[in-house]
Amino acid sequence: MKITKIHAKSVELKLIEPFVTAALTRTHQSTVLVKVETDEGVFGIGESVATRHIVGETIDSILASLKELEIQLIGINPLNIELIHSIMDKYLVYNSGAKAGIDIALYDIKGKIMNAPLYKVLGGFRNTLETDVTISIDSIDNMVSSALKSVNKGFKELKIKIGLDPKKDIEAIKRIREAVGSDVSLKADANQGYSITDAIIVLNEILKYDIILTEQPVPYWDINGMAQIRSKTNMPVVTDEAVHNHYDAMKYIKSDACDMVNIKLMKSAGIFKAEKINAVCEASNIRCMVGCMVESRVAIAAGAHFAASKKNIIETDLDAFLLTEELPYLSGGFTNKNGNITLLESPGLGLEVEF
Ligand SMILES: [Mg+2]
Repeated sequence: MKITKIHAKSVELKLIEPFVTAALTRTHQSTVLVKVETDEGVFGIGESVATRHIVGETIDSILASLKELEIQLIGINPLNIELIHSIMDKYLVYNSGAKAGIDIALYDIKGKIMNAPLYKVLGGFRNTLETDVTISIDSIDNMVSSALKSVNKGFKELKIKIGLDPKKDIEAIKRIREAVGSDVSLKADANQGYSITDAIIVLNEILKYDIILTEQPVPYWDINGMAQIRSKTNMPVVTDEAVHNHYDAMKYIKSDACDMVNIKLMKSAGIFKAEKINAVCEASNIRCMVGCMVESRVAIAAGAHFAASKKNIIETDLDAFLLTEELPYLSGGFTNKNGNITLLESPGLGLEVEF
């Protein structure tokens, strides 16, 4: 079997409500759907999200990378995934989103060839997940009502975006906890927004409201800052924007700079290296979560299959399909009931796509 073509289709995802984090505010998200075709008629679907503020890629750079990578990969067996990553990395450093689109499509093909759903191809630890739902930064009243709305719909886990204003953040978390009661699990994510001092103050304060973890309180480059924060709080500190691959994960673990790693396929160039991050973490007794960008059902399905396949992945933040208007020509992969995701048993990602 040989790769014969890599198609790319750029798409604009519309957010149902503006998505506000300490990093930026968005009403739309650009992404690229990828289709890898073979000479045997089997094809795979993937996705490359343009997350310029995290990995530095734009729609134009992704489309250009995919075109160049296509030339390198035509004629290669799509099941030779390690070889394909080695070719991609030798030809083009970074550009993890473009590579993720190809990688996800290759795993979709692998599942189809094996006639097994991807979560089983990758390990098959479970077939269901509980995703949290994200509460954007807004006025405290709006954050509380958005949290209540999700809880009333049946969601049991919320992730609250903080990182712009320490005092307001503490008050928002206090008010949300009071409103939702003690049965709802709460996480926080500062998206690199704090100084070290502010992070230590906020994390220690919000511990009182039973926040189970906080993501990336300080900028991605501040590995010493993360270690310092960890030494001064009992809050589990998760690294997100700072860890893209297994090399980053190793550095963070060796520096005692995280309690958990948030793996995202767009940072790790797909599933192949996401497995390596998880293995490095597992060997260091560090648990992982799987998160997402603002992305379509394709990348969410890939993240969910990966997360479900591994015992060491204990948290999931795969709610983008709830925050965006879904594409009419894209369905399947998984079902969702109030954040409870069940993977389909169809081969590969299990998606129905027409493009
Ligand atoms: Mg995060």
